[in-house]
Amino acid sequence: MTTTLITGANKGIGHETARQLIAAGHTVYIGARDAERGRRAAGELGARFVLLDVTDDASVEAAAKKIEADGGLDVLINNAGIESRTADNAVPTAETVTADQMRTTFETNVFGVVRVLHAFLPLLERSAAPVVVNVSSGLASLTALSDPDHFAHFYPGIAYPASKTAVNMLTVQFAKAFPAMRINSVEPGFTKTDLNGNTGTQTVEQGAEIIVRMAQTGPDGPTGGYFDVNGRLPW
Ligand code: NDP
Repeated sequence: MTTTLITGANKGIGHETARQLIAAGHTVYIGARDAERGRRAAGELGARFVLLDVTDDASVEAAAKKIEADGGLDVLINNAGIESRTADNAVPTAETVTADQMRTTFETNVFGVVRVLHAFLPLLERSAAPVVVNVSSGLASLTALSDPDHFAHFYPGIAYPASKTAVNMLTVQFAKAFPAMRINSVEPGFTKTDLNGNTGTQTVEQGAEIIVRMAQTGPDGPTGGYFDVNGRLPW
């Protein structure tokens, strides 16, 4: 039996990832920062619920204690993320961004990943086949952002892409430090969710595909990489 935790899984791509992994036989914990939203999602899906705000040390530690007491963890999916739009729905650009906006984005997307990894690594180390999937973005790729022929080149924001590039870097360094685990980052593709005001061109089913695939990586699978549905990506 494979036990999987997905952070920020009460809606969007994380919610769909939970649905697909449950169908594949995983026991799934829906991590959510709001108990009502999390319990409702877990109830809909036949998942377990754990209260987990990735920006809060005490919340993350309590979630790790609960899952440890329940029997442990095999797969961790760091999915919770924010894009930090301003009141007029714009993304902060190089001209307008403030240090506070950068900090807020990094608090969830980067420091949250580190906080959750540190709390759950001791549990994962006891698994026979530990796997970590860090949900990154196509906007993490310096190759894509500096290529005028790539869609990512035209994204004007700065905080979100910088945070996701940092996620890719964390992935590489954690993968080197924990060679017994498969630790990869993934780009789900531009997916219709609240994160982008439902402007994405893919369905959540399509967005979840690479996450679900990498969550099922076996002990001989890749580690330290960055993937989308078509394979390894440059970044
Ligand atoms: P959604 O906004 O639909 O879902 C984001 C989820 O993260 C929600 O469940 C939200 O909870 C949760 N969350 C936010 N902050 C925290 C926190 N501090 N603690 C715990 N949970 C939190 O977005 P998506 O489903 O689109 O995003 C999922 C991941 O996919 C993100 O990492 C995103 O960056 C990435 N991604 C998305 C793309 C897209 O096109 N949609 C493309 C590339 C990457 P709540 O409901 O409480 O706000």
